[in-house]
Amino acid sequence: MTMIRLSGVTKGFGAVEAVRDLDLKLERGRLFALLGPSGCGKTTTLRLLAGFESPDTGEIEINGVLVAGRGTNVPPEKRRVGVVFQDYALFPHLSVAKNVAYGLKSVLRGKNKEARVAEVLALARLTGLEDRMPHELSGGQQQRVALARALAPEPAVVLLDEPFSNLDASLRAEVRAEMREILTAAKATAVFVTHDQAEALSVADEVAVMFGGTIVQVAPPEELYHRPATRAVAEFVGEANFVSGTADDGRLHCVLGDVPACGTCAGNVEAMLRPEALRLRALADEQASPAGAVATVLAREFYGHDQLIKLRLDSGPVLCSRLGGGPGFRPGERVAVEVQGPALVFPKP
Ligand code: ATP
Repeated sequence: MTMIRLSGVTKGFGAVEAVRDLDLKLERGRLFALLGPSGCGKTTTLRLLAGFESPDTGEIEINGVLVAGRGTNVPPEKRRVGVVFQDYALFPHLSVAKNVAYGLKSVLRGKNKEARVAEVLALARLTGLEDRMPHELSGGQQQRVALARALAPEPAVVLLDEPFSNLDASLRAEVRAEMREILTAAKATAVFVTHDQAEALSVADEVAVMFGGTIVQVAPPEELYHRPATRAVAEFVGEANFVSGTADDGRLHCVLGDVPACGTCAGNVEAMLRPEALRLRALADEQASPAGAVATVLAREFYGHDQLIKLRLDSGPVLCSRLGGGPGFRPGERVAVEVQGPALVFPKP
């Protein structure tokens, strides 16, 4: 069932069209990432949903109710949306419990205010910290208070603006997992804004990619990564190699040989291969010219769990291969390059 629907939404600020003819439909109970580069209109979209901005044209529905458009503009507090701001916006002079209780009606669906605060603090694993002040909490705990406060009034939708950007890299993975668990336990429909593709892929059920004020693709993480709709999406969502070639009958003929292909176009194409689809084999000196593509290693970036090997094919193109964290290849080494899995083909621009 649809929880959020935007149709033909446009929002400009003077000469800047921040959001342009945007259509988006999000299902109930799912966690969505709104992913795109800086300035693409993510925050404006979130603010339009929250009611902090009103669209110039188009309509917005939340939970089947028209909240903006056709002469309607429901104020933020009547939209049943909970917002977690980038800096959490906790009240510094109020305790954890008082922050969460703030603005909560005295009785909510038969439960009194104290019971709901206790319930939501337990959900956000903050029980025992009720009387702490915000400055006495870690960054992750502050974020959970902001999330608990947003969830307390049982909103239809929770909106989170760059929820992890204020956290140390070391905390981020843990907090992402916690946030996901809390939102899932609350059966919330949530939309979070991020410019970090790894964050979007690892946390969201579905990712909406936004460029230049419009949505270019909405898909689950695996689909977005393996079947990006355009070259621009492929490049934005992880590392990608591109090679030119010709495609026919599910095969790609290119500098890497004759490899399986997916995608709908034929003839002259541009094909995408993720770095992990390129396998490397060391070449002994006497094997200088094997049948497949041969390359020289240019550089190696070692990350522990994996490594990226940059290489130049003898035929010219520079590509990138991702290998496991074991022994790697050194700059200058000669390698044979093999393709594992299908290449995704796009029409040649
Ligand atoms: P970031 O990741 O950097 O926050 P974003 O994708 O969230 O970017 P928005 O903040 O929605 O992008 O901004 C989209 C465009 O609209 C930008 O060009 C921005 O400068 C402009 N913009 C946003 N809000 C306003 C405003 N209140 N007044 C004028 N221009 C604005």
